[in-house]
Amino acid sequence: MERSIKLLMDKYGIKPSKSLGQNFLMDKEIQAKIVNACNIKKDDLVIEVGAGMGAISCELAARAGKLAAIEIDRHLLPALQEALKQYNNVEIIHGDILKLNLKDDIIYKAYRTGLTGGQEFKPARIIAVGNLPYYVTTPIVEKLLEEENIDEIIIMVQKEAAERILAKPGAKNYGLLSLMAKYYSKAEILFNVPPGCFFPKPNVYSSVVKMSRNKTPPVHLLNKELFFKIIKSSFGQRRKTLFNALYNANLVPLSKEEIKAVLKETGIDENTRGEALSLEQFAQISNAFSEISERISSLHRQ
Ligand code: SAM
Repeated sequence: MERSIKLLMDKYGIKPSKSLGQNFLMDKEIQAKIVNACNIKKDDLVIEVGAGMGAISCELAARAGKLAAIEIDRHLLPALQEALKQYNNVEIIHGDILKLNLKDDIIYKAYRTGLTGGQEFKPARIIAVGNLPYYVTTPIVEKLLEEENIDEIIIMVQKEAAERILAKPGAKNYGLLSLMAKYYSKAEILFNVPPGCFFPKPNVYSSVVKMSRNKTPPVHLLNKELFFKIIKSSFGQRRKTLFNALYNANLVPLSKEEIKAVLKETGIDENTRGEALSLEQFAQISNAFSEISERISSLHRQ
């Protein structure tokens, strides 16, 4: 077991909490491999999700301009503070990543006060890093992807979650997460990590995934909100056809026949299921519905 983490656990009487997904990364080589993969420079702002007792935080702080280390569990904070005490470019944020407003609480704060107080800090890049708690991986990844100020995301997740991020149409694990990852980023699996690298050992393998934000999205959308609503309703009702998903979710103010007619115009079979549709096809469908909805509302306005 890695000595510094073990010492902190003993000193502060820390017992890993299963419900908070606490599997601490003990393997020094993997810690270094993750930090190296981030390619951090002195003018970058790093946001670490679930800092724990600082297994990778110290090296992140040493390389970054600023580090915002987020941790939900107050029992870990004294250990995290001790691990990071030599760095004056770190703000430890006690909170739930899913409830924090990343823009206001971290990014704009860095712009205004340099995050840790003092001069403003305008980072060259914003990098989100984390050995994520596996019980909330999906909402965390969704949140990081949706925060458009973040340039790079390097996260360790359960191997199955990494495969879902990279899944292609037709695969069993293809879904909203795969489509979001493709819309917002170029994603790749960097390497896998065996259970023995953690304490306590999880039952599963992990993978480190890198997502680099697309400067221009791969598809043009007339209405991004509608696009993701259509995807959600298609996967929320897996066994339903595209037509049923669209009709039941009541996303567009159209009759059954009108929905069928719009789908026919796109050339996409109304009986196709969401899991078979590519990002480009979802874009085509949502643009077709958004155009027709726009035409209807402008008729109502006249
Ligand atoms: N980074 C540390 C490491 O590698 O050893 C800890 C990783 S552990 C897998 C996940 C960490 O995320 C835990 O410290 C846990 O308390 C924290 N965590 C769990 N849910 C969280 C949430 N919603 N917001 C912020 N941190 C969370």
